[in-house]
Amino acid sequence: MNTIDLRSDTVTRPGDGMRKAMAEAEVGDDVYGDDPTVNRLQALAAEMLGCEAALFVPSGTQSNLMALLSHCQRGDEYIVGQQAHTYKYEGGGAAVLGSIQPQPLDFDVDGTLDLARVEGAIKEDDEHFARTRLLCLENTQSGRALPMDYLARARTFVDAHTLSLHLDGARLFNAAVKHGVEATAITQHFDSVSVCLSKGLGCPVGSVLCGPRELLADGHRWRKMLGGGMRQAGVIAAAGIFALHHNVQRLHEDHENAERLAQGLREIDELGVDYGPQQTNMVFVELAAAVVGPLQQALHEQGIVVTAGQRMRLVTHLDVSRADVDRVVETCKRFFAGGRSLGQAAGAARA
Ligand SMILES: *Cc1c(COP(=O)(O)O)cnc(C)c1O
Repeated sequence: MNTIDLRSDTVTRPGDGMRKAMAEAEVGDDVYGDDPTVNRLQALAAEMLGCEAALFVPSGTQSNLMALLSHCQRGDEYIVGQQAHTYKYEGGGAAVLGSIQPQPLDFDVDGTLDLARVEGAIKEDDEHFARTRLLCLENTQSGRALPMDYLARARTFVDAHTLSLHLDGARLFNAAVKHGVEATAITQHFDSVSVCLSKGLGCPVGSVLCGPRELLADGHRWRKMLGGGMRQAGVIAAAGIFALHHNVQRLHEDHENAERLAQGLREIDELGVDYGPQQTNMVFVELAAAVVGPLQQALHEQGIVVTAGQRMRLVTHLDVSRADVDRVVETCKRFFAGGRSLGQAAGAARA
């Protein structure tokens, strides 16, 4: 019985093709700019994302921080979602390491930041205030692909207010595939874009930061300072090239599997399933507190790994098949149809 890990799309493991590409990668010392595979990955990412240049980095956290440090000086401010990764899930790096003040605002239900509220949060030029410099969006946000027309409006908005616009596009390609557009249709509106290779694209490690050459020259300096200067990094960059060639178009399978999972789980009365029309590879499931532990245990016994909670996030990815999704739904149905007491009996017998 294979393990089905729904905690995140970061759990994907490199397959045979990717491992072969890694094993055969031509390498050099990337701190000298000598690694041909890193250079090829950066050129490919820049082309696919429609940017002048790209930098390969160890993580999305580092990539976002490099962008923030490049856009903002000490005492500047960026406007960001209250639940955004760069604000909430990156250790406060912008403030800690950049002396950049975040101004968080709640996301709307569609994962956007309401531009009228953003406007209200922009500080006047006054010595009492930090200087508002940057707006940071996230796409996908909690699995939601932001509406395409919103991106164009956000661009017009930042131009009118002389702000820069950064995209945390950890799952940018999920958004592009969801809308059936090229990634450039999204990235064209942004001054910089960070994309993770290590999530749905299936790489063991790595992200890319894309943008204009001048901004990335700054970013390059920050990358070194943050400890992201890597040597024979072609070994992992090769995985990135493989992923960009082979694992982008297939993302629609993850979205179809998530939708199938949501449909199956909707047949269970005890679960509140949240999978709206904007959703890509994440299903959110609400359940009673008393059920959280026992359900997690029942799933565990069937080789299904989840992050338990009253609002559970289930993520589909490269290593989750349609048959796997059906096994998850079946296990949940059995649990709620009384398999629960059977599971408890089995547990008692073992004890
Ligand atoms: C995963 C993620 C990142 C970057 O995470 P790393 O683990 O540092 O690569 C950034 N933003 C979002 C929205 C993410 O999901």
